[in-house]
Amino acid sequence: MRAVDIIRRKRQGEELTRDEIEWIVLDFTRGEIPDYQMAAWMMAVVWRGMSERETLDLTMTMAHSGDMLDLSSIAPVVVDKHSTGGVGDKTTLFVAPLVACLGLPVGKMSGRGLGFSGGTLDKLEAIPGFVANLTREQFLEQVKRHGIAVIGQSADLAPADGKMYALRDVTATVESLPLIASSIMSKKIAAGADAIVLDVKVGSGAFMKTEEEARALAETMVAIGRGVGRQVAAVISDMEQPLGNAVGNALEVAEAIDALRGHGPADFVEHCLVIASEMLLLAGACDNVDAARTMLLQAIDSGQATAKFREWIGAQGGDAGVVDDVGLMAQARLVEDLLSPQSGCVAAINAMQVGLATVALGAGREKKGEAIDHAVGVVLKRKVGDRAKKGEPLLTIHANDERRLDEAKEALLGAYAWSDMPVQAPALILEVIR
Ligand code: URA
Repeated sequence: MRAVDIIRRKRQGEELTRDEIEWIVLDFTRGEIPDYQMAAWMMAVVWRGMSERETLDLTMTMAHSGDMLDLSSIAPVVVDKHSTGGVGDKTTLFVAPLVACLGLPVGKMSGRGLGFSGGTLDKLEAIPGFVANLTREQFLEQVKRHGIAVIGQSADLAPADGKMYALRDVTATVESLPLIASSIMSKKIAAGADAIVLDVKVGSGAFMKTEEEARALAETMVAIGRGVGRQVAAVISDMEQPLGNAVGNALEVAEAIDALRGHGPADFVEHCLVIASEMLLLAGACDNVDAARTMLLQAIDSGQATAKFREWIGAQGGDAGVVDDVGLMAQARLVEDLLSPQSGCVAAINAMQVGLATVALGAGREKKGEAIDHAVGVVLKRKVGDRAKKGEPLLTIHANDERRLDEAKEALLGAYAWSDMPVQAPALILEVIR
């Protein structure tokens, strides 16, 4: 087989065989196919799409590109959640310890930032000392002992996704249903969780811009998961504006810690309660959503969730002292408010523009493997539906470079739309597919 033929066939919209998909993905993973050919192939997939059968073959090839974990010896049910990617989406940082402290083990493989959307691993690495690349044995041991572990792709687990993901991030090949579905589900299948809640984002700050696209992605992933015997639910949630207030790695960790302590922004906390409730329901830890919420709220009020967060961070080498002092994480040198250019009601905050502005500040990557600046980002002070008077702060920018700060101001002003009339905040949850 030749990569150029497979690229051409996909470019022409032809359906590839399982052998062709396996060949191109596994040879790329072994380093035998160069980045430029894989990038060209993925761009052809972006334009031409894949059939259900091709998407399933791609997913299973990626899942089997490394070890497949069996977590059955750890607990009867291990749960996981995964977001399709958004702006300000620090859900895992809050939800994973919240669910784990209720005795439900969470074993999760996460990703790094992708395009304008942030990544859980980048956020966790804002915590000094935190180690995401555990070996398979360390991962299993930690889930067994602490009931929680979050790791990145490694040479052991779904390495094909690790390599494809890093390349997609910098070649504008993220927005594709088959590439997103296979990336997420290959990680989930390889990491071995029995019950998986998918958080499928829709809106300006999501890869799926319409509810129809989000539903199609959710249904594809649910079908793949159920096809291999996993319990899967999907929540379709709003990503028109950033989730919560903080966007940027250390700033998001700080906001998640606030939420664990019962002081998080209302939209972020509500979103997380929905996701965590679905995890409890799917794992059979309770019978209905009301019971789940009661358990979760008690875990927050009693401090159990915060204690589990400390235990988790410490177990992965991180400085759990961040819970008491978020200043232990990197701090930006320049902290400035962006002032409202007019009086009125905030009608929209384009989440993708906010995400791109934070990447430009240094919170994400423009080239593969680039180091990121954990300190930079923004904290919103006004969200959709809020009123602001001219000259009042809309958000605070955290930057480490004057030129980037000025550019971010301009870009961020352009993310706001205004209305003279009252505006309703968008619904947080659009649908739950159980
Ligand atoms: N999250 C992933 O893990 N992969 C994608 O492709 C998009 C979001």
